[in-house]
Amino acid sequence: MTIADETRTLIQAALAGDPALASLSVSGFSPETLSVHIAPGRPVKSIGGFSYSPEPPFHRETLMELIIRMQRLRWQRAAPFVPEVMPPEQRDLQALHKKHGKATVGFECGPGWTDTFDAVFTWLNEIDLNRDWSPSQIKEKYGTLRFYWYGDLPDLGDEIIEAAEHLSGHLCEICGAPGVLRSDGGWWSTRCRDHRKGWQS
Ligand SMILES: [Zn+2]
Repeated sequence: MTIADETRTLIQAALAGDPALASLSVSGFSPETLSVHIAPGRPVKSIGGFSYSPEPPFHRETLMELIIRMQRLRWQRAAPFVPEVMPPEQRDLQALHKKHGKATVGFECGPGWTDTFDAVFTWLNEIDLNRDWSPSQIKEKYGTLRFYWYGDLPDLGDEIIEAAEHLSGHLCEICGAPGVLRSDGGWWSTRCRDHRKGWQS
């Protein structure tokens, strides 16, 4: 799988049901050259298996930017041996506490969402350095991410966090590969095919 293939798979899953997917094009063969084009705007109400009322709390372009940032981080971990993906591990997740001043609470989830968090904190820091906000809890619940925060963030900041929560329902919590949210005996989790194996036993 290439970075463009993986990115396309992820976008098609996260926006499944959105007619704008017809306009999607993904290109690039490395983190630096990865490029995504899709019609901008608000996705339809029901996308990727989730239903929002009255509408998704983020724009398509916000979700795309988050995915591009995340995929670049994910595919750069193995540098200089790119293009090759190296799944994040627990130590990568914990390293975010040192990398990002706002990463003050524990990550109550698996390491698969490391690059999502890295992208979120980096982007939030870029849009406004001086805002007074903090996460209050970051955890997995019913298989997807819950990112609670308080304080002062611009609307875009809220959108970025909402988009990350949506995206988590399509990312394996163990390894960060495209995954599916499923229930096994009432226990919800988002897993890729490899990490779903033998899970029911
Ligand atoms: Zn996995």
